[in-house]
Amino acid sequence: MSTPEQSWFTEEHESSGSSIGFRVRERLHAEQTPFQHIEIYDSTDWGKLMVIDGCMMLTTRDNFFYHEMMAHPALFTHSRAKRVVIIGGGDCGTLREVLRHDEVEQVVQVDIDERVTRLAEKYFPELCESNGDPRAELRFDDGIRYMADCDPESVDIVIVDSTDPVGPAEGLFNAAFYSSCFKALRPGGIFVQQSESPLAHITLIKQMRSALRVAGFQAVRTLTFPQPCYPTGWWSATLARKGADLSGFRERGAQTKQFATRYYNAEIHKAALSLPEFVREELGE
Ligand code: SAM
Repeated sequence: MSTPEQSWFTEEHESSGSSIGFRVRERLHAEQTPFQHIEIYDSTDWGKLMVIDGCMMLTTRDNFFYHEMMAHPALFTHSRAKRVVIIGGGDCGTLREVLRHDEVEQVVQVDIDERVTRLAEKYFPELCESNGDPRAELRFDDGIRYMADCDPESVDIVIVDSTDPVGPAEGLFNAAFYSSCFKALRPGGIFVQQSESPLAHITLIKQMRSALRVAGFQAVRTLTFPQPCYPTGWWSATLARKGADLSGFRERGAQTKQFATRYYNAEIHKAALSLPEFVREELGE
């Protein structure tokens, strides 16, 4: 029940015939940037909400699932990632998780829209607490162009933390972009991209995986995790490797990690590598 001071923000998800709603007290901010429409809401139970082009990006309450799973599986799979590039990720939550790894010497984050980061600093300051880390470089540019111009074999991990594959993010989901990433990665390097919901977007996940193979990645794995604020409440990240396989990870490193997480641990990582039957069948695993 909402009171007269409260209403609901609802994201309708056309292709799955469902919607997800949050009870909100007020809209704190709305603006149209050159790239997208950004809104910030204050909710009664989920903290602040960030919405881009009508799609839920994150809530204070549940962003840890996504940000931890975008960072730690890749970081604990690579033997020693020194240089990481994040494409998108303007809310800075993934950046904060990557910087928890002492072996990382430099992280370049490339988001097309500086306003996302400025609003995250104001409304999600906890996600931006590592932005001043001397290892972090925040650039505001098109990630497609940045990866195309990247020096060959100069990066250990590329993380694509983007909006859905429409608008400015559309070109982040095709073989041409994946080829740029492949070229920029050192041998053994890892690519990871948010890959939407296995229940609602399995066709997209299949297309991504086949485009990654076309681009040269030999090993491709899709990991799943809960994400209550996104359509269907269940989300995925697809990892791909230049060279060696992706079946294992530094389990001991994950067990003895020197930083706190709320979702990720070694057992979760192992479990995330197992796929439900219908997903295995769809993906031909
Ligand atoms: N966790 C979110 C999700 O999956 O819904 C993504 C959050 S993050 C805010 C997504 C970011 O991708 C946005 O800040 C947006 O500006 C950025 N983005 C979209 N297209 C981009 C591009 N071509 N290059 C760089 N950043 C891009």
